[in-house]
Amino acid sequence: MAGTNALMTLENFINGKFVPCNSYIDSYDPSTGEVYCRVPNSGKEEIEAAVEAARAAFPGWSARSPQERSKVLYRLADLLEQSLEELAQAESRDQGKTVTLARSMDIPRAVQNVRFFASSVLHHTSECTQADPAGCVHYTVRAPVGIGGCRPHRGAEPQPEPEPESGHLPPGLKAGLISPWNLPLYLLTWKVAPAIAAGNTVIAKPSELTSVTAWMMCKLLEKAGVPPGVVNIVFGTGPRVGEALVAHPEVPLISFTGSQPTAERIIHLSAPHCKKLSLELGGKNPAIIFEDANLEECIPTTVKSSFANQGEICLCTSRIFVQRSIYEEFLEKFVEATRRWKVGIPSDPLASMGALISKAHLEKVRSYIKKARSEGAQILCGEGVDTLSLPAKNQGGYFMLPTVITHIKDESCCMKEEIFGPVTCVVPFDSEEEVIQRANSVKYGLAATVWSCNVGRVHRVAKKLQSGLVWTNCWLIRELNLPFGGMKSSGVGREGGKDSYEFFTEVKTITIKH
Ligand code: NAD
Repeated sequence: MAGTNALMTLENFINGKFVPCNSYIDSYDPSTGEVYCRVPNSGKEEIEAAVEAARAAFPGWSARSPQERSKVLYRLADLLEQSLEELAQAESRDQGKTVTLARSMDIPRAVQNVRFFASSVLHHTSECTQADPAGCVHYTVRAPVGIGGCRPHRGAEPQPEPEPESGHLPPGLKAGLISPWNLPLYLLTWKVAPAIAAGNTVIAKPSELTSVTAWMMCKLLEKAGVPPGVVNIVFGTGPRVGEALVAHPEVPLISFTGSQPTAERIIHLSAPHCKKLSLELGGKNPAIIFEDANLEECIPTTVKSSFANQGEICLCTSRIFVQRSIYEEFLEKFVEATRRWKVGIPSDPLASMGALISKAHLEKVRSYIKKARSEGAQILCGEGVDTLSLPAKNQGGYFMLPTVITHIKDESCCMKEEIFGPVTCVVPFDSEEEVIQRANSVKYGLAATVWSCNVGRVHRVAKKLQSGLVWTNCWLIRELNLPFGGMKSSGVGREGGKDSYEFFTEVKTITIKH
């Protein structure tokens, strides 16, 4: 960190060392609209250095037993937990979310991610069968892609991967991890932890808008016992350093969480190298509320599922379908509860929502509301914050109120496109079949919620929804062992205990005739 009056200046973390960059970009505090930090504007050169470090660290790290790697991860989880308050304050300042949310969700979940994969890597088994007529033994092992696996079809030939030193098979490879700005440390650790637990060395690129907690985590890696070069973090923009990482021929695997247009670019850049891809993308998530729903639970949960983290969670509800018989009652109570959802400066303990990530994003979100109004929709509550209620230094912050739109057609862009802000649409429906068809009528398929006391109905509807995740009578309760991911344009692949392990390793079938 630079002197007290100077801006905080981040550095890349390569081969276990902080390395300055020759160019920087400004990072803004969303709650004031002022620059408060400088982030390295890395490019190809920094990616080359990180690949070299990851290559050198790979044989040693991948040859360690899962138990040894697990111990390192447990230590890292403890260190993150000890820094919880400091990390929560930093995450809130960098992202605009409330400190309360960062303290209760983001950082605890980052700790949980690391601890979860420290444990789960010890519990994977492989398949074995002797059922063929020749009586051979067939079994699977997980081996690195780097050895004789994914090779570039053009561009520079990668260096041959050195064989691991110990006897057991190392399930590792060099992984490129790209994460977004909405849940910075939460989503970064969701990738780093399973990747290194499985024996990979990694190069991570957090969002240029929210790089601070990743940089803070780097300071804990050595103490946790992560050897130099196992985790390299290179900061900068998507088009510059993100593309350099994706296009690098020695990085055969990319785990990406972000938007669908960026995913298209990543697919394009990865295609010549046949890279293994995991893509966790956006959503346009429906909540389906049947007339027998318990509204006392449903309303506060649906307000939360619509507006938590300023609506900047890929799993947030943005289309609420309510059975016509309870539509008016629901709407009245929902709007009333939304109006009580306080927008405030991130340190305000009573605030439920802080500032949006950037000026550009705030303008984009507002443009959707303008469009809805021009189409004849009604805005029941929301839009601008009364800036007089904010301290003087926060007058330029990117705040807006949680917004509820009604009388809107399913064809409207507000009902089709991901807004990724505190905006939700409420519309009536008549029948089960109709609402399933309407819920499925968008290009996304990430998460859905269904509210009903009829057990048969929730099973039936959940099964028919085109959605990677369906929550019934709840939202955002996660079991990390089970698959997480989206259908259709919401992504390719799944993450979670076994799924992450399978993604970060390559399976091989071996047949022994005896
Ligand atoms: P984004 O696609 O703009 O950026 C995501 C990351 O990709 C950032 O690190 C960015 O710098 C990088 N990037 C951008 N262009 C790139 C390029 N050409 N090559 C390589 N990397 C590039 O997304 P965002 O605005 O940061 O995040 C919001 C999006 O993320 C939303 O669509 C949201 O739904 C999605 N998201 C999905 C999940 C999920 O688990 N499915 C979770 C969180 C966010």
